[in-house]
Amino acid sequence: MKLRVKVLVSMTAVVVFMGLFQSLFLQSRVETMFESYLSESDQMKVDMLKRAVTSYYSAAGSLEGVGQTLEMSNRMNMGSVMGYTGTIEMIILDSSGEIVANTTDNMNKNNRVSIEEPLEVNGETVGTFIAYPEKSASVSRLEQQFVQSVNLTILFGFLFAGVITLLIGFFLSNKITRPLSQLVSGIEHVSKGNTKFRVTIDSKDEFKHLGEAFNQMTDTLERTERIRKSLVADVAHELRTPLSIIRAKLESIQAGAVEATEEVILHVSDEVYRLSRLVNDLQQLSLAESRTLPLHKERTEMNRFIESILAQFRWFAEEKRIALHLNRSATAIFPEIDRDRITQVVVNLLGNAIRYTPENGIVTIDVCKEGQSVVLCFQDTGPGIDEQNLPFIFERFYRVDESRKRDKGGVGLGLSIAKGFVEVHGGNINVTSRKGKGTQFKVTLPLSG
Ligand code: ADP
Repeated sequence: MKLRVKVLVSMTAVVVFMGLFQSLFLQSRVETMFESYLSESDQMKVDMLKRAVTSYYSAAGSLEGVGQTLEMSNRMNMGSVMGYTGTIEMIILDSSGEIVANTTDNMNKNNRVSIEEPLEVNGETVGTFIAYPEKSASVSRLEQQFVQSVNLTILFGFLFAGVITLLIGFFLSNKITRPLSQLVSGIEHVSKGNTKFRVTIDSKDEFKHLGEAFNQMTDTLERTERIRKSLVADVAHELRTPLSIIRAKLESIQAGAVEATEEVILHVSDEVYRLSRLVNDLQQLSLAESRTLPLHKERTEMNRFIESILAQFRWFAEEKRIALHLNRSATAIFPEIDRDRITQVVVNLLGNAIRYTPENGIVTIDVCKEGQSVVLCFQDTGPGIDEQNLPFIFERFYRVDESRKRDKGGVGLGLSIAKGFVEVHGGNINVTSRKGKGTQFKVTLPLSG
């Protein structure tokens, strides 16, 4: 059964159930109230008859002959006084239990409702009054008509509510199921490989969030798909250049066109080194991303550790007239790290900072402790990174400047490797950048484990 039909059926079922319940409840309530009105009216009549009997007793000194007086009063006066709710048949007993008056004639007393009360004169019981109230035909008819008209009103109200519920249910079920249908169609598109499909949900409820989450998911899927497709092409592309240089050089030597001098061999070995570094980087990255990279953690003093790496970059910075500053933390910090992997992270970040910062710039490294973490900040005064490129710079082979020459930078794996290595340590890496002002990479590593 479709969700829309389900919503409609459940709403209608609730209304039907409530209508039935209400109708039964109201009907029994009306009957009870009507009965209680009648019995109150009977009680008043009985009280008046009792008063007449006791007055008779006070006047006559006994109950002898009270029957005729009462029968007349009950049939002629009392009925009209009480508004024709019916007659009251009665039996009057004297103090010794003898019947002194009986108007019940042939009626079956056993199945009748009776009111039995003592007759008291000046605090003394002079007899018993037993009354059998009987509804008149007109009252019974009135009661029946009243209950019928209440039932009819309930039925009409119920039908009206049913129609309104169906209309509202139709509108609501449509409103509820429309975004779902859009999402289902979106999922079908994505499952068929169309990751470009996006949904537009107008409502302002949870479905809107669901739609946004779906669109975010398809954004990620589309990007991952793009990266996956370009990965093989990128790897092939990055391998092709050094391979073709090596091949060309070797063929020239073989043909005798070029002599195998030390310089030529150095050039070839440079390319071989570049190739093996690329393969090694890819292997490290895939291990880090699959969280299977083995770590050999050691307790390391962070300030001294960074200083020793920095020392190796001094000549590179001086060559570009870049000032290299280290702001050590006030106290020594001892995180447990795999020194080789974190060295690689620092080398990649520091290398980029110096590489992308123009001459006379400044590169600053801050080491500090934040809670149970050690934080390393790499700040440069380089060109900064565009806002639209910033979210992608940690992706494999992503280069802001695609047309950049190979010798001016890496292949776009440096930041992916840094991120992978930091994350296997349980840390994280963030970037903030302002175009034309500089870039800051912030690495957070837990102190232990
Ligand atoms: P690459 O090895 O090509 O430098 P990375 O993964 O290290 O690749 O960096 C990805 C991209 O991020 C680079 O192409 C570069 O454009 C940009 N980038 C990285 N660090 C900086 C920085 N400090 N300043 C400006 N751009 C940077």
